[in-house]
Amino acid sequence: MAFELYATGQYTLVRLRELLNAKGLRSVKNRTMTAFRYQYLLQNPFYYGVFVLNGEMHQGAHEPLVTKDLFDKVQEVMTRRSKPNSVRLKSYVYRGLLHCGECGCGVTMETQKGHNYLRCTKRVKKDCSQPYVREENMTTQIAAALTSVSLPDDTADRLVQRLETLGIMVAMATKKVAKTAAAAKSRVKPGPKAEVLKLEGDWRENIRKSFQAVKPAKGWPKS
Ligand SMILES: [Zn+2]
Repeated sequence: MAFELYATGQYTLVRLRELLNAKGLRSVKNRTMTAFRYQYLLQNPFYYGVFVLNGEMHQGAHEPLVTKDLFDKVQEVMTRRSKPNSVRLKSYVYRGLLHCGECGCGVTMETQKGHNYLRCTKRVKKDCSQPYVREENMTTQIAAALTSVSLPDDTADRLVQRLETLGIMVAMATKKVAKTAAAAKSRVKPGPKAEVLKLEGDWRENIRKSFQAVKPAKGWPKS
């Protein structure tokens, strides 16, 4: 039961302990078990039919309580749960990748009001003047740099790898830039030449109209 519940991944050891202790599960010595005790139990291969003797695993003669599959699943869940930090740590695109160009310190990342920023840690040069940079700006700059500069292979590889994860964002940004450019173009006023041509066209049209409007006087020679 402990194995089945824990394998769902929905229980911490503490919650599992609360639940099973409440259901009356006790140790061999009929005592309630601690969370640590549950962990020990869940990691004991004895329950799927083997036992460890002198560092070696032996097939036991006893009836296994759980299958090897279930046991493995439990170990998987426990490994995942034992690393909460790696899950909680935000996976920034540029984490640990860049150094400040001014002072050489590592560049760290943080989130402010929903935007990711890069910032010099200023560990060495306290008065480093480099400001915060928006992640999107950095991506634009790097994308531009990648097209014009050859980087050391490993750096380029890492950048490309990380930019690939950003690919959709870059594509979106590019689309937006193109759209903005098109909008700006449509707002551009016609240059002097276009104005002159238009005036010229109007002028011709006006002249033509004014000629049509003039009715030939009597006796006007027929053309
Ligand atoms: Zn710096």
